[in-house]
Amino acid sequence: MTSLPAVPSPGKLLRQLVRTIPVAAALATFVHLARGGFRGLQTLGWTEAALVGVLLVGIAMAAWRRAMRGAVGAVIDLRDDLELGGGLISAAFIVVAIGGAELFPIVYLLMAFLVAFLPRNAGLTLLGVALVFDGLVVTLAGPVPNLMGFATHATFLALFAGLYHLVLAARIAVSRRAENDAVQKRIREVEERARTFRLVSSGTQDSFSGMNSDEKWLVASVKEIEGAVQAALEIAETSLRTHTCAAFLLTSDDRSLKLYDCRSGSERVHREKFNAGEGVIGGVLKRRAPVRMNSPQGLKGVTYYESGGPSVQALLAVPILEGSGLVRGVLVADKLSNEPFSDQDEKLLATIAGEVLRSIEVERVMSYIRKTRDEKDRFFRAIEELNRAGSPDQVFVAVLESTRQLAGLDFCAVTLVSEQDGKRVHRVARMTGVTAQGKALEGRTFVDNNGLVANVVRYGAPLPGRDIKAMDRQVIFDDETQIRGLGALKIFPLVAGDRILGTLVAGSRKKSVFEQDVLRMIEVIAIQAAQAVLRAQLYEQMERMATTDGLTGLLNHRTFQSRADEILAQARRYQRKCSIVLTDVDHFKSVNDTYGHPTGDLVLKGVARIIKSMARDTDVVARYGGEEFVLIMPETDVPGAKAIAERIREAVMAEVFQTEMGPLKVTMSLGVSTFPDNGLEKQQLIDLADQCLYHSKRNGRNQSVTVAQMQGGRKLQAVES
Ligand code: GH3
Ligand code: MG
Ligand code: MG
Repeated sequence: MTSLPAVPSPGKLLRQLVRTIPVAAALATFVHLARGGFRGLQTLGWTEAALVGVLLVGIAMAAWRRAMRGAVGAVIDLRDDLELGGGLISAAFIVVAIGGAELFPIVYLLMAFLVAFLPRNAGLTLLGVALVFDGLVVTLAGPVPNLMGFATHATFLALFAGLYHLVLAARIAVSRRAENDAVQKRIREVEERARTFRLVSSGTQDSFSGMNSDEKWLVASVKEIEGAVQAALEIAETSLRTHTCAAFLLTSDDRSLKLYDCRSGSERVHREKFNAGEGVIGGVLKRRAPVRMNSPQGLKGVTYYESGGPSVQALLAVPILEGSGLVRGVLVADKLSNEPFSDQDEKLLATIAGEVLRSIEVERVMSYIRKTRDEKDRFFRAIEELNRAGSPDQVFVAVLESTRQLAGLDFCAVTLVSEQDGKRVHRVARMTGVTAQGKALEGRTFVDNNGLVANVVRYGAPLPGRDIKAMDRQVIFDDETQIRGLGALKIFPLVAGDRILGTLVAGSRKKSVFEQDVLRMIEVIAIQAAQAVLRAQLYEQMERMATTDGLTGLLNHRTFQSRADEILAQARRYQRKCSIVLTDVDHFKSVNDTYGHPTGDLVLKGVARIIKSMARDTDVVARYGGEEFVLIMPETDVPGAKAIAERIREAVMAEVFQTEMGPLKVTMSLGVSTFPDNGLEKQQLIDLADQCLYHSKRNGRNQSVTVAQMQGGRKLQAVES
């Protein structure tokens, strides 16, 4: 701690000489009174005038000295009190001597005043002084000692002094106690609030997950603690009588200080950042120890005021220290008068520094809560989004969007795995971000390899387990796909029940992105995503089941009907042609009878595959029923339809089905009708194709395809072309 001398000392001797003036004047007055001076106005001469003058100068000096010491907070000792009191008593006795004994109550009143307002020692001493001089005056000044008068004076003096002392001292004591109580109460309040907060903070961050009412409680506590810091500064201001009491916190680089909270009579306390390395405060931060200093000339190195700030004469600064010894800031108290701060003051300010520290901790915790609350909001929105998603594609978009937002990721992808011919194949279903090649990976497929995605699917666990050093050389998808510039990477399996559907790949340029909470949330999103993908896939499957034929995988009869309507409507609107081909396997009953129903199924599947492979992408191929299939071909005229039908017939005829009972070959009969040549309505066209088909059957089966032909412009008839 630093302490500067309170007052510099010039001409000590002269000062001591001057200081004797009040006492000397009082003593001289008494001596003159005792010798019978000041008896009535007519006796006054130059001696009396000089005495009164010196006495008044003495009183004025004593009063001035007391006032000055009081103003700077210096101790006022017995001598100060006696000098002033003695002077006043002398003056009162002069008044009584001149004005007559009936004025003596002035002395009573003065005595009462002195006893009540001066410390007890000074009061009693002055009472003694008054009694002694009254005695001297009474016994020595007159021709006969007036003992009765002295006894009366002594009794009343003692009575007034005693009464006033009791009454006034009691009142002063009461008000002082009230003031003390008020300060103590505020301190207790602050401590109580601090305790409240300590209870909350003792749980630390782990207990903040999933809170709600707790959170509300904490917010309330934070308001409390913020109020507590203000109250603490207020206490410091009142009890230390400061001009400014302010807390400054170090910025994150420890180079500057920024105002945290303050109570000041000045408008010029720095609100913006200022250099933390300079002046008195710089010293406090460096040494991590309190500093106390004062000077009547004004202190240098007070850096927390803007230019034009007040001249500070006393200053107390304590560091705001964490338990670990880390300095977080500084708490300062100053005065514009040269009143040094005491040890007690320093203790109080250190307590308040502790209060400020707790407040900073609360703010840190609060910002953590705000952050996680935002994260939670986004998280639940993401889950909702996932639950709403209908198609797998909507699911992928929702997953990527929410994962990216949740953790601020730079690269995100969903991969799906499927079995193809007994091999595991991965497909990048959707991605955001760019690859090293600068292109999107969407739709890319790769067979099982030793990359991270394949391994995550293989083991059903997130990878990598720990940080990867050479991230750029890591194979995430396959060898040909490079993702550069990632600082952190995590791949989660999409697990639904006991099925692994694929992976969620999450990457970021930032290294520290995957904190425990974020990881946990992405994991939950991955689980939800897997469920959503599974749901979407099941939905698609159901839809497929409703529209397709279970045995052959072709569209079913119902779907054929609606697709035929659509295609015919198109043909009608754009005046285009459109053909229907109907097929029926010849003597299929005997296939079943000879080879068994399962072999019959196999043959049906084979025939369906052949028809499908012969058709164009725009053609609709369906199982019409039993062993009958149908094609509806947009943009196809009679010769076109006949050509395709013929190719199908030949392909089926050429196919050899391997059965347990040896090779098997089948043939089929087909009929063709064309819009608008042979009819305008769907059913009309189907019936006509059917007639053509039976025409073929009747003509020996496996016949060259029969097409419908217009006859006579009215009647449609199936004929062999
Ligand atoms: P035709 O040359 O006159 O067409 O003789 P056909 O034996 O094919 O006669 P038809 O069309 O009347 O008989 C169809 C047979 O196809 C009857 C039925 O047993 C068989 N069939 C229908 N659906 C299936 C199926 O899903 N699987 C199997 N294995 N057979 C089926
Ligand atoms: Mg049939
Ligand atoms: Mg048949």
